[in-house]
Amino acid sequence: MSSSAHITTVPARPARLLTQNREMRAIGVWNWTLPALAARLPDGRTQVTCPAASACTRICYARNGTYLFPAVNAKHTANLAFVMDDLPGWTEAMIRELSAPRLVGKFVRVHDAGDFFSDAYTLAWCRVMRACPQVTFYCYTKEVRRFKRLIEPDPPENFLWVYSYGGREDSFIDPDRDRVADVFPDEDAITEAGWSSQEASDLLAVLGPRLVGVPANRIPQFLKRMGGRRLSEWQAEIDAERTHKRRRHLRLVPNDPSAPTSMPEGQPSEDDAERHAA
Ligand code: SF4
Repeated sequence: MSSSAHITTVPARPARLLTQNREMRAIGVWNWTLPALAARLPDGRTQVTCPAASACTRICYARNGTYLFPAVNAKHTANLAFVMDDLPGWTEAMIRELSAPRLVGKFVRVHDAGDFFSDAYTLAWCRVMRACPQVTFYCYTKEVRRFKRLIEPDPPENFLWVYSYGGREDSFIDPDRDRVADVFPDEDAITEAGWSSQEASDLLAVLGPRLVGVPANRIPQFLKRMGGRRLSEWQAEIDAERTHKRRRHLRLVPNDPSAPTSMPEGQPSEDDAERHAA
């Protein structure tokens, strides 16, 4: 590859990794963000950034509004490219940035959008957290199985998380034990269910009561899609429908030795269709 071609396909390293909007500045929180759900890098590579996302994709705040502005999208894509191309370099850069005096005693929300999309990336965050005890990190995540396997047995002391409903791993959440977040149609629905709203401060998601209610964004098409349901209820409907379809498919090919045991390579799965429909 010529050097000029290289320059056009490699996104510039972001000068700053952490950002802060007015709302988060007011509560002392900094953000790290990836593109929501999936992204295509300028060189054509693609990466799913929210592997466990499901119903949430249909009301995803980060696939709407200002997140779609080219400059914003380019910044989030550059963040992802840095992680994918040079995870050790990203880890060092993040630790360096977090070592600034202005971050002492502050919170970092890991993923305004995106999720812990691989084991290597998740473990890199653990290294960052252990190297920066002066900062508290928190996240919402749908990577329930990855967290139960990689994080729960030995979590960094300065890391707080909440499992959020609306993903394909909802059934792995233990609502009697885990800290959980669910999106409700409005504040009244949160109160009626006996959950606690995090509307006053995003930090309540990890510092407040364990059952965290998130009021839905007042975006008309999102509210219409939710149809008065909680996100967990919507996901349960999707899961039941998926199970029903699988069973019906199995009944159609009971003892056929020529029947494929898995989807042929390159053919979209039901789950992929759901992603693209979102
Ligand atoms: S996990 Fe979050 S960022 Fe990803 S698609 Fe769902 S709502 Fe959007």
